[in-house]
Amino acid sequence: MKKEMIRIENLKKSFGELEVLKEVNLEVHESDVVVLIGASGSGKSTLLRCINFLEIKNGGKIVIEGEEIDPKSHNLNEVRQRVGMVFQHFNLFPHKTVLENVMEAPVLVKKLNKAEAKKEAISLLGKVGLSDKADVYPAKLSGGQKQRVAIARALAMKPDIMLFDEPTSALDPELVGEVLATMKELAQEGMTMVVVTHEMGFAKEVADEVVYMHDGQIWERGKPDELFNNPKEQRTKDFLSSIL
Ligand code: ADP
Ligand code: MG
Repeated sequence: MKKEMIRIENLKKSFGELEVLKEVNLEVHESDVVVLIGASGSGKSTLLRCINFLEIKNGGKIVIEGEEIDPKSHNLNEVRQRVGMVFQHFNLFPHKTVLENVMEAPVLVKKLNKAEAKKEAISLLGKVGLSDKADVYPAKLSGGQKQRVAIARALAMKPDIMLFDEPTSALDPELVGEVLATMKELAQEGMTMVVVTHEMGFAKEVADEVVYMHDGQIWERGKPDELFNNPKEQRTKDFLSSIL
């Protein structure tokens, strides 16, 4: 049995009167890739943000690598180091070079010495195929390159889990492939990943499980093959035919 990396039990999250997550249950095992799909507003981003404690739940349990995280008593910065996140908009520091962007958090947060951080950043830039862009500023990069820098920056903290929130949906179509290829490599290296995406080709090829969210709940989940070719719920069928 593979190690349980994320366990969510009866997770609830509201914004004022609006119940955005209603008793969500989910487990993610080591090296698994879980793809979250669902209509806009169904709660996908809120679920990722709760797993990373950018939002604080109103009820239920979040267990990360076997440890239940209580936002009141845990150091959330320490938890966030273990759970990296990549957003739709890359949020790179515009006044720092690519290399400095990747080095920033290990030096500031992990207190890594600069020489060591630089060495690791260079190696990560190689991994995402951007060795030649180390000294360039983000404004000079394409969207796909920026997103690959954002992935390298998240990996620089050596997370055990990576969350991706629609990482390719702000990109021009011709740049989507290079980012998905980087994510696929990461998956093949054994990274545990939760990915919100509408790239069904990626989901079919890379996901171990696809989770369909509707109205703040997990409506159906299964292997990509099952969920895409033989969905059990009418709502899943309707959603899939709306996007395919
Ligand atoms: P998705 O990512 O599936 O599109 P979200 O998790 O972003 O869905 O949003 C789910 C619902 O929660 C939406 O109705 C959205 O307007 C609402 N919501 C998300 N974040 C906030 C917030 N910070 N304050 C108020 N409402 C929010
Ligand atoms: Mg979203």
